[in-house]
Amino acid sequence: MPDPIYLDHAATTPVRPEVLEAMMPFYGPRFGNPSSVHRWGREARTALDEARERLGRCLGATPDEICFTSGGTEADNIAILGAWRARRDEGRTAVVTTPIEHKAVLASVHEAAREGAEERLCAMTNAGVVDLESYQSLVRSDTAIATVMWINNEIGTIQPIAELVQIAKSVGALFHTDAVQAFGKVDVDARTIPFDVLSISGHKIGAPKGIGAVYIRRGTVVAPLFFGGEQDRGRRPGTENVAAAVGLARAAELAVAEREQHWDRLEQLRDRLEQSILAKVPDAVIHGRDARERAPHIVNVSVPGTDSESMLMALDLRGIGCSAGSACQSGSITPSHVLSAIGVSPELASSAIRMSIGSLTTDACIDRVADVFPALVNKARGMGAAVPAHAS
Ligand SMILES: *Cc1c(COP(=O)(O)O)cnc(C)c1O
Repeated sequence: MPDPIYLDHAATTPVRPEVLEAMMPFYGPRFGNPSSVHRWGREARTALDEARERLGRCLGATPDEICFTSGGTEADNIAILGAWRARRDEGRTAVVTTPIEHKAVLASVHEAAREGAEERLCAMTNAGVVDLESYQSLVRSDTAIATVMWINNEIGTIQPIAELVQIAKSVGALFHTDAVQAFGKVDVDARTIPFDVLSISGHKIGAPKGIGAVYIRRGTVVAPLFFGGEQDRGRRPGTENVAAAVGLARAAELAVAEREQHWDRLEQLRDRLEQSILAKVPDAVIHGRDARERAPHIVNVSVPGTDSESMLMALDLRGIGCSAGSACQSGSITPSHVLSAIGVSPELASSAIRMSIGSLTTDACIDRVADVFPALVNKARGMGAAVPAHAS
């Protein structure tokens, strides 16, 4: 069998060799606790401070605006619940979001609602973009925080963050964006777009799993979710993951330096993949393709008459790793909340496959997928009549 093809870069990415190299000393001789006063501690403290400063520079932020977390999920929780809890006593009781957010955001908003917030879900266009009129009508002077993801992880649509921030600011609401899929793809700079809080995750950009960061604009108060030590000025207590923070800073620097070149490469590969699929499977539907702005790394395709689970297994048997959009829970694929929110019928949504391109993807990968995918579609459709009704 030819080399396997990883087409799931939106789920996670391999750790870059440069990142691993930067991290290694902190698993060896430079093992100190940054809170210790002796030389080992001071050495770790210096490395952590430097990582904070370097990551800050990648985001147009100062070091005090960077809070390291265990990943994107924790960053989203701190941003949303922290902002809500800090503001609820001001009479700002509404939290505005969209129905296409990552579960980390949706669940944080639900938790705020359980604590008394009014949850408002913005309408979406069928192209997968926030309906600005709906957003404007929901974000009001009673709004604590509005949270809208920058790039959607299932369909790759890009939201008009600059406009959404402006609207939130005009009524005194905080604005948070989950930029986990956006960082390294679009220009994420706190100096050009005045978002208040922003989440990133290491393992989507070539750093390890289990590290991320939340940007908190200077002057913005976010209540802590954890209690303990004074680390990160009490915003996120617990002994810092020095090695991973150093790795995240290195990965972020590489992502920023290579961003435009990376975008062009991914976009070319994506267009080739889409064109070849549509040429051989003309009734395939690519979700989010009508958005004015799209990420270059995500292709979410439905083929009527097939189903995600069987297609994913058939692709995997041929060495091609894709996903069903949202990660499956306990092995079974539930219909995507994102596709349903943008008006895709349950039948069409049940055949959705997400292919996400990245550093491991080459032209040869795309060519093979362009051969295998249509063949599997034909097989699935041909077998449709012969196979008894789905047994599960
Ligand atoms: C992966 C992802 C997350 C979660 O990040 P983790 O570091 O895995 O917790 C959040 N939001 C989006 C958009 C993601 O793609």
